[in-house]
Amino acid sequence: MGPDGIRRIAVEEAFAVPEQLDELARLAETSIEYHPDLALAKRQSGGGEMTTALLDLEGERLRLMDEARLDMALLLLTAPGLQLFQPSFAAGMAVRINDLLAALVARHPSRFAALAAVAPQAPKETAREIERAMTTLGHRGIVINSHTDGEYLDEDKYLPILEAAEAFGAPVYIHPRAFTPAIAQAYRKNGLEHAIWGFQAETGLHGLRLITSGVFDRFPKLKIVLGHAGEGLPFWMERIDYMHAKPRGRPELARTPSQYLRENFWYTTSGMNWHRSVRFLVDAMGADRVMFAADYPYQHMHEEVALMDTAPLTRDELRQVYAGTAQTVFGM
Ligand code: MN
Repeated sequence: MGPDGIRRIAVEEAFAVPEQLDELARLAETSIEYHPDLALAKRQSGGGEMTTALLDLEGERLRLMDEARLDMALLLLTAPGLQLFQPSFAAGMAVRINDLLAALVARHPSRFAALAAVAPQAPKETAREIERAMTTLGHRGIVINSHTDGEYLDEDKYLPILEAAEAFGAPVYIHPRAFTPAIAQAYRKNGLEHAIWGFQAETGLHGLRLITSGVFDRFPKLKIVLGHAGEGLPFWMERIDYMHAKPRGRPELARTPSQYLRENFWYTTSGMNWHRSVRFLVDAMGADRVMFAADYPYQHMHEEVALMDTAPLTRDELRQVYAGTAQTVFGM
């Protein structure tokens, strides 16, 4: 905790491991068609500053955390995670990464906690890994980089994952990735398929699909975390309720969409520490639903902390967003 008495936790902090980047680079080399995730993977694995920052865990990263006055980081395997890999290979890599994370956290328990990496394309193995991650390894939840091969978590084949997440109290952080290549085509002109717009369109769709398919009526204790100020959903909440009430052959829900957004979802400020956005999120969802994130190394820690430090929040709200909500949701 800094001299100002504020404990600062950042909850969407990315890293990579060599075997993940090697496989992404191999796929990028062999893909003929444009693939929006592999286009980014070239930068992640290319050996430049981004590669160095993603692979570093105990060196420069800790120094930057000190400089930014960040007490703790919740680490997650960088997008697209393991979701482009062959299922059993990906599931095996998830186990190795989660072991590595457990050892890292054991060396730095006051600085790091982690979300478990999973391979949703192997649902049964993922369900088992959620149990191991939450019980044996002490991880704080899981990260899934939105769609898997164009499929979303409301599909029946992913039920074992949601069941395990609810049963073991694992919050599911749905982190962005690019749309499938076919859908990304419409975003490609002028480069709109990544973080500038495509990511939130894709991940917001994922959140809304979970709500409208009735996933939370089946799993009422399921906890979903969305970054980037909720990928637009809180801003759209009233319109979503209004339009959802019109008959369009959608499944009946026990609650209104905004009720799920207020009861099953938590939100982080990754890449969205713009003051007006932070104030809106706290007003609309409550400070107890909002957590600070820097989104390192895709954004700078010190810049994001400087924004949050000066956000138009009361001191109690600031404490809640910086640490209180992360304590409740991730036990940090
Ligand atoms: Mn991120």
